[in-house]
Amino acid sequence: MKGQIIVQGRRYEYTLRRNRRARRLILKVGPVGDIVAVMPWRVSRKVAEEFVLSKAKWLDQAIKKQEEKPVQPLVEFRSGAWLPILGDMIQLLVTVEKDRQRTSFIEEGNMLRVAVSQFAGVKKALAKWYWTRVKGYVKKRADDLADQMGLRIDKIVISSAKSQWGSCIKSKGRISIQWRLAQAPLGVIDYVITHEVMHLKCSGHGKDFWQGVEEVCPDYRERRRWLKENGHRLYWR
Ligand SMILES: [Zn+2]
Repeated sequence: MKGQIIVQGRRYEYTLRRNRRARRLILKVGPVGDIVAVMPWRVSRKVAEEFVLSKAKWLDQAIKKQEEKPVQPLVEFRSGAWLPILGDMIQLLVTVEKDRQRTSFIEEGNMLRVAVSQFAGVKKALAKWYWTRVKGYVKKRADDLADQMGLRIDKIVISSAKSQWGSCIKSKGRISIQWRLAQAPLGVIDYVITHEVMHLKCSGHGKDFWQGVEEVCPDYRERRRWLKENGHRLYWR
């Protein structure tokens, strides 16, 4: 069930959700600004809507506070969280073994088991895992895309650059792709690869450059927009 509320001239949509275990009405603002009113089973919709209305002032403040906060990263560092990986999702399961010398990873179906000596090591371990996974993907995919474009790559590098998603050294036939893209949708990674491969032919971002990109990636504008809007969420703090 959806409801709407107007607070100080701004319209907000919220979800009304019944919960058998709820004892009273609760209003929540989620990590991306989604508003949920949790209702006990017997409470009517009308009562719930009145409750939300009575919380208008609180809601306005909660949303403003959230808008000031940096947006959450796509990855959550907790056991049980679902991690985005190369257009797929995998569930993270962490085991902490005090005496463990080395971090280990085991992928089983849609589960990633990570064993560390202390929980604080999970972030570093995940960065390493993402790096390995993106490397395998990019090495193959970049060659396929280059073939389609009639170009040849001499060297593919995975980088930890902070300010750019990819780069290209035309004279060396070398392209590099940033590891954090492993968390982005596949189409977005493919766009970045295509972009860098295209630079093996054209240096700047002129008309021929974009035409070449568009041939391989017809919806590249959308993929670029995704990066502009969500790129910062691929960075971990
Ligand atoms: Zn470029």
